[in-house]
Amino acid sequence: MGTKDISTMNNNSKPDIAFIGLGNMGAPMAENLLKAGYTLSVFDLSDAATQRLEKAGARVAQSPKDAASNAQVVISMLPAGQHVHSVYLGDSGANGLLAELPKGTLVIDSSTIAAADARTVADAASQLGIDFLDAPVSGGTGGAIAGSLTFIVGGDDDVFAKAEPILAVMGKNIFHAGEHGAGQVAKICNNMLLGILMAGTAEAINLGVKNGLDPKVLSDIMLQSSGRNWTLEVYNPYPQVMENVPSSNGYQGGFMSKLMQKDLNLAMQTAQDTHVDTPMGAKATELYATHTLENGDKDFSSIMGRHDASVLF
Ligand code: NAD
Repeated sequence: MGTKDISTMNNNSKPDIAFIGLGNMGAPMAENLLKAGYTLSVFDLSDAATQRLEKAGARVAQSPKDAASNAQVVISMLPAGQHVHSVYLGDSGANGLLAELPKGTLVIDSSTIAAADARTVADAASQLGIDFLDAPVSGGTGGAIAGSLTFIVGGDDDVFAKAEPILAVMGKNIFHAGEHGAGQVAKICNNMLLGILMAGTAEAINLGVKNGLDPKVLSDIMLQSSGRNWTLEVYNPYPQVMENVPSSNGYQGGFMSKLMQKDLNLAMQTAQDTHVDTPMGAKATELYATHTLENGDKDFSSIMGRHDASVLF
């Protein structure tokens, strides 16, 4: 295959994009790219996931290589580090998608994975003349649908500049956190705090409910008081307090508890490796470890069920 460099493209033309991983986040992100006029080839292991994108106008590919066959840009939104490793590096470390891509291809991985794993893929890409960015996101499925995600990017300045117009289709705030891996470090700091806030918010609402308060009234009060936080603003964990959130839909969709557990483990590993004290993060990790044993596929706000199991059914 020849060189396909996004930087040499005419300003008016949009690069063709391969999108790999079409789950709760990837599907709406890919749909927003289609709506903005990009041509997409998509791949996912799940047929249900690819059918949704086919209806939206994407070409369904049979493999990551097939998806990338005409693409100048590859975007992935996979569950964890092992999936990113397997897609890009393959079993041997050298027989994955990277080995198939022309020089100058822009690869953006938006999965939340360990910074060390992101650097491993970035190094392999760099040796092949491929531009790589770690670009994890924040904002949940609501942000993915609305195209208002926050992108937290690690990588070189010139590559960041090339990716920015594409990321701007899917997100509202796009931060360049630093070099390769920096996006992932910032992301796990954020998600450690989110895990603490969600566990704490569920605990506070439960205390109020067990003492006779209506969960909606208590939530409204805390929203206008100093306990205000993102979970109360847009992601209340108590059923029926808020519309269109996983807690009002049997904790389906959203951000699975097992993925929050993965992120908390990444934060704890980083804290341990760098000798940083994170006692609140450790407590949230412990709570989610227990919760995930039986509720791994439910949204992470289902930690509410730790206090009142009836909300889970
Ligand atoms: P998900 O499990 O809903 O989707 C992942 C998709 O990847 C699935 O459709 C799965 O079939 C597919 N997949 C797995 N292995 C694959 C492979 N080898 N090739 C192709 N497809 C493969 O997960 P999600 O909620 O969309 O999260 C994706 C990433 O985004 C995770 O790293 C998560 O931590 C992060 N994230 C999620 C949220 C959220 O609110 N859900 C928010 C921010 C970040």
